[in-house]
Parts: sequence; C-alpha cells; structure tokens
Amino acid sequence: MYRDLWDKLVEWFIVANMIPCSCGSKDDHWNVKDSIEGIVCEAEVVCDNCGKVVNYWAYGNLESPETYTELIKWNLADFLYKFNLVRRYQNWRFNRSIRKGGF
Ligand SMILES: [Zn+2]
Repeated sequence: MYRDLWDKLVEWFIVANMIPCSCGSKDDHWNVKDSIEGIVCEAEVVCDNCGKVVNYWAYGNLESPETYTELIKWNLADFLYKFNLVRRYQNWRFNRSIRKGGF
C-alpha cells in the first residue's frame, strides 16, 4: 500500500517537474528522424496537443532541458561559465595563500 503511494508521489513529481509546451500541454511523443539499423540517432519531441516541436534529441543528448531540475542545472553551469566563478575562487585562494606565505 505504501509502495503504491510512493510510486504515485514519484510519478507526480516527475510530471510536475516537466517543462510544459508553450500551449501548456505536457504530453509529447517522439518522431524518429534518423536511425541506423534500428538504432535511433536523431528524433524530434513533438507536442501531442499543438504539434509544435518542443525539443530535439541527437546521439544521446537533448537540445534543451526537459525538466525544471535540468533547467536549473543548465542555468547554473551557464552562470558559472559566464562569470568564471570557479577560476576566480581558485585565484582568490591562490593569492591569499601567497600573502600568508606559502601553502
Ligand atoms: Zn503544445
């Protein structure tokens, strides 16, 4: 019984986490564009409701994020890259350790 409830909760979270199409629908299907010997190489993700192409998949990667979790991760990576925070932090630590007289 608890197992069922848990499964429902997980399913609810997955659906809630999905980024809907601009029309508001979260139902989509894949249109295979290219495959080699039955293995899909390229596919479009098409909205079931309005028929708009919402995403594109090629060689194991989606073009745009599918879920809010991924969107946050993508934005965070973009942010870190833009402001180069990792490099700045390393420089700051390096300069600080020099001022202190070595590591
Ligand atoms: Zn749509």
